[in-house]
Amino acid sequence: MNNQYNLRSAITGAALALLSLTTSKGFAQLKDPVIDNIVKEENDNSQLERLAHELFDGIGPRLVGTPQMEQANNWAVAKYTGWGIPARNEKWGEWRGWERGISHIDMITPRVKTIEGTQLAWSPGMGKNTVTAELIIIPDLPDSLAFQQWLPNVKGKFVMVSMLQPTGRPDYNWQEFATKESFDKMKKDRAAQTEAWANRIKKTGYTSRTLPLVLEKAGAAGIISSNWSAGFGVDKIFGAYSKIIPTVDIALEDYGLLYRLTESGDKPRISIHTESKERGAVPTFNTIAEIKGSEKPDEYVILSAHFDSWDGGTGATDNGTGTLTMMEAMRILKKVYPNPKRTILAGHWGSEEEGLNGSRAFVEDHPEIVKKIQVVFNQDNGTGRVANLAGQGFLHSYEYLTRWLSKVPSNIRDSIKTTFPGAPGGGGSDFASFVAYGAPAFSLSSLNWSYGTYTWHTNRDTYDKIVFDDLRSNAILVASLVYMASEDPSTTSRERSVLPINLKTGEPTLWPAPVKSIRRGGLD
Ligand SMILES: [Zn+2]
Repeated sequence: MNNQYNLRSAITGAALALLSLTTSKGFAQLKDPVIDNIVKEENDNSQLERLAHELFDGIGPRLVGTPQMEQANNWAVAKYTGWGIPARNEKWGEWRGWERGISHIDMITPRVKTIEGTQLAWSPGMGKNTVTAELIIIPDLPDSLAFQQWLPNVKGKFVMVSMLQPTGRPDYNWQEFATKESFDKMKKDRAAQTEAWANRIKKTGYTSRTLPLVLEKAGAAGIISSNWSAGFGVDKIFGAYSKIIPTVDIALEDYGLLYRLTESGDKPRISIHTESKERGAVPTFNTIAEIKGSEKPDEYVILSAHFDSWDGGTGATDNGTGTLTMMEAMRILKKVYPNPKRTILAGHWGSEEEGLNGSRAFVEDHPEIVKKIQVVFNQDNGTGRVANLAGQGFLHSYEYLTRWLSKVPSNIRDSIKTTFPGAPGGGGSDFASFVAYGAPAFSLSSLNWSYGTYTWHTNRDTYDKIVFDDLRSNAILVASLVYMASEDPSTTSRERSVLPINLKTGEPTLWPAPVKSIRRGGLD
């Protein structure tokens, strides 16, 4: 500790000697050598491409309970260790262990065509079996009684449970080329069809969650769904509900083909072969990296980003980019600011996608840290440059956040819109786990880059969607803010703003309450 303190004093002294006056936009501004070094390190020696290649191309998606998630945890610890930053995997729970294998889907009749599709997460494996069978569509029946009478028809067939989309073109494409009349008509028809399909499922007496179990009990060969994400060639890939038979998602184009052939009585046959492995209950971890503070080691500046993902793509932008931003910021800080005043901690949370479970477990398990948090910066909405920062309902957040931001290079700072005091977020990503305990935690919100449609939870969330220039900008931003927060002579205020009256109920809005983490997931 003493040695560290002396080293720190020496560095601070050198830094002071380097302080110089520069003029930027006509204003005299104190230049900060640490910030300059952050910028220089990222511009000259960025590791982001290499990290992205290793994590997304090498390891792949990081669904909770998969061997890839654990590999990623171990990879991150090894990376940090290589940078001289102590890191550990903290067990917070157990999850159903599952490993994705191959998915092969082919149309056999009326002609041969390989079908674009994949099994959903947690889909039961078929072993070495390949099943070739006809398809059947959930029919529009008057009620659940009629459905029960129809149910034996599914025996030995693949059951199509999603509606036929009227168009595979995204709305922006219609907007550009269609007449207003035909665009309006398409939207009206689609809305009516969507409602009718929801009604069709409802009349079976089941939900989209319970229906697959009923179908497999009645002898169906598999569940065929299509969860179009409203962009060209893009589907959202979530989890299967079937327990014995496979559930696959088929891309809109091929799903439409099979649906129309089935509906017109052509009796198409497809063959499906999927493999997956059940691994029982496996431990789940948060990866925690820490650069110990030299003056206030029990106060924490936290870099936060969930590490897990869905597994249709490789989780590159949800939340690979947030993960790499925080890792890169830590690497830079260790190099240019190795003896921080406060402890700098990076939290790479597990199982955010199933309900912020890793970060909720962390705040439950570490009250001593939560009490002494200077600030948390979380990033979790894609590859874009940070564009928005809101005060999460902390009354004095404008004071410290704008003070820290003032030191961030102006080309990055100037495009960030701030909102104060803002409202406390009750969910959405891991900052909410901290906000619920009254700890100042903020979301670094990114430019959109068609996140919601094209990459978020989709089969297209892959390396090629990353915008590395924006990531470099975010790494510099995070490292700069963390440095400023760590050095700040004062501790951040946790005072909450008075929340507005809810206009519907007439009651005052309450601060979001902590939600308990799920410590044992996906297991019966
Ligand atoms: Zn996310």
